[in-house]
Amino acid sequence: MSRARVLLLNAALGPLDYRVPHGMTVEPGSIVVAPLGPRQLMGAVWEADRMPSDAEVGDNRLRNLLAVADVPPLRAPLRRLIEWTADYYLAPPAAVLRMAMPSSSALEGARTVTEYRATGVVPDRLTPQRAQALERIADRQGLVRELALAADVSDGVIRGLVKVGAIEAVEVDIDTPFPPPDPDHAQPALGAEQRTAATAITDAVEARAFQPFLLDGVTGSGKTEVYFEGVAQALRQGRQTLVLLPEIALTEPFLKRFAARFGTAPVAWHSGLRQSQRRRAWRAIAGGEGKVVVGARSALFLPYADLGLIVVDEAHETSFKQEEGVHYHARDVAVMRGRFEGCPVVLATATPAIETHQQVEVGHYTHLTLPGRWGAAELPAIEAIDLIAEPPERGRWIAPRLVKAMEEVLDRGEQSLLFLNRRGFAPLTLCRTCGHRFKCPNCTAWMVEHRLVRRLACHHCGHIEPPPRACPECGQEDSLVACGPGVERIADEVTALFPEARTAIVTSDTIWSPAKAAEFVARMEAGAIDIVIGTQLVTKGYHFPNLTLVGVIDADLGLEGGDLRAAERTFQQIMQVAGRAGRGEKSGHVYIQTHSPDAPVMRALATGDADSFIAAETAARRDAGAPPFGRYAAIVVSSEDQAAAQETATLIGRTAPEVEGMLVYGPAPAPLAMLRGRHRFRLLVHARRALDVQEVIRGWLGALDWPAKVRVTVDVDPYSF
Ligand code: ADP
Ligand code: ZN
Repeated sequence: MSRARVLLLNAALGPLDYRVPHGMTVEPGSIVVAPLGPRQLMGAVWEADRMPSDAEVGDNRLRNLLAVADVPPLRAPLRRLIEWTADYYLAPPAAVLRMAMPSSSALEGARTVTEYRATGVVPDRLTPQRAQALERIADRQGLVRELALAADVSDGVIRGLVKVGAIEAVEVDIDTPFPPPDPDHAQPALGAEQRTAATAITDAVEARAFQPFLLDGVTGSGKTEVYFEGVAQALRQGRQTLVLLPEIALTEPFLKRFAARFGTAPVAWHSGLRQSQRRRAWRAIAGGEGKVVVGARSALFLPYADLGLIVVDEAHETSFKQEEGVHYHARDVAVMRGRFEGCPVVLATATPAIETHQQVEVGHYTHLTLPGRWGAAELPAIEAIDLIAEPPERGRWIAPRLVKAMEEVLDRGEQSLLFLNRRGFAPLTLCRTCGHRFKCPNCTAWMVEHRLVRRLACHHCGHIEPPPRACPECGQEDSLVACGPGVERIADEVTALFPEARTAIVTSDTIWSPAKAAEFVARMEAGAIDIVIGTQLVTKGYHFPNLTLVGVIDADLGLEGGDLRAAERTFQQIMQVAGRAGRGEKSGHVYIQTHSPDAPVMRALATGDADSFIAAETAARRDAGAPPFGRYAAIVVSSEDQAAAQETATLIGRTAPEVEGMLVYGPAPAPLAMLRGRHRFRLLVHARRALDVQEVIRGWLGALDWPAKVRVTVDVDPYSF
């Protein structure tokens, strides 16, 4: 009898043994269906032909595997990556495996699916829900459920629209191959420094060996062109490339640029894909025909047939840190995947993280630098505006010097960008009469006023309320005041200052699909927008040659809370947004409004002296034993039942092992003490770098029990705390 050990997609269980029935062959990595109680679950074979121990021999309770999927088995490097990720981030292996697996529909043999799309017919009876659905899905196609989700209506509304002819069914072929990108389609003439950097990468691709690179150069220095040469080399060798991007909104301009260089679009992978697209992409990636994959962090765990290069673009981005489910850092996992696959990994960024600089320092990563901006473009000059010395007018947020600069830019027919990392109109609404503040019922957070869509919203759980007329506490009318600015309020101020200017607000509220992003880019390029007011969404990747002025409304915002990475994050974010200015032949100018122009990070920004800022930050981290010189892990205990959460947190704190080189702080209420209705307590583990902190935590928590209603999650290398 042959038995196989199978890792099922059930987070609660470890691998289980099954009998391999006659006529079925499996190998490590085979994707199988196995019975579990009354259910059938997908899983992957972890050990084939397993030799049972004496105690297990003849175990006739073993159940038969039910089926093997007709897809390539998960290869050894990916299986190692899954094990490593589960071990390092203290996550259930099944939860990591899930990211590598196809959805069950990807295993079905069908070659077409039925999807739906709007016909343009307006139904006679146009309810508000139907109107909303038709507006939201105007440029979409998908299953009924997908359209309903996109439109935020029930499935029934979509089906009703199908019945009246406003939405029609279309058969979609999901077996269409992806055309191969052509490495020689439109090769640019690289500059000398670009050539040197590109050769280092192409040599590594040819060597087919693990080698991490930091590709470091200011925004607009031509890093993308450099790593495209690496992609071209992998293509010439018939191997695959993965390019990780931080934001889907960014993929649209990237896809265009990729197509201009390689003659065709790459395979895209992100959470916005329809089921049919997902299925087509997964099969192409596993089969090896999908040569270049551009994706969000989840693309890291896909079963590439033959990976020759990994690129992490904008590698400093915080969105590479996954904060839900399996808590992992895609930048770090990307390097591990390169190690297991035996291929080079390129981290491209204008503002590398302290951790990444340190890897260069100790010789683990090869440093490739591009000195300045490509061509005639120059880096913009950055000037600080001291908000105490030069305050905006009462009730305004834009200081006179910035207003004047905007006016000049407008007169010259150029474009400006105002950056404020706050969605909505105002971050807090309060009652002038009684002091009542609008708070989320589920979170320790204020309700944020969104005037464009006329509601209050919690940015943590999504709870929404209609805008209030009167104070719910004291009943007073006309007593509510909006406190502080959000982008919508800045947009109002801009309109009051420059009534003739054409403005656009760019946040996740207005750019909620790649199509919306493309529309924004097109309007910018056509010169149909004079002033953009945006959140961090506009700090990334865009290239607008006529954008010559950037104003940072509140440079101090990111320093609030003062966590470990506050200064570093502020530096990165402002350098990135500054990098949007003066990317063409016209030079750019950047103003940063701050209350603390003497803070080291503001000084570094104004003088452009990144090196000494990084040196000072690194020294401070070293002194504090903070990452990358030491490590942290956060243990978060949460429950809807506050007492239960607190009790478990106390138990964990009380049983903390005494280990040389490790300290445990807390439990204390977590920074978001309540989130989505769950009360949260946190313990922070601080350890020496050399300590196997995962092993300690595994032993520590593994010996404890807590009620089912309590959830304990561990965040290894937490980003902010
Ligand atoms: P980065 O990725 O460092 O921000 P990009 O690769 O986007 O920089 O390059 C900035 C601009 O310069 C882009 O418009 C790009 O097309 C152009 N560019 C860079 N290198 C070259 C080159 N060798 N030839 C022509 N244009 C280039
Ligand atoms: Zn909330």
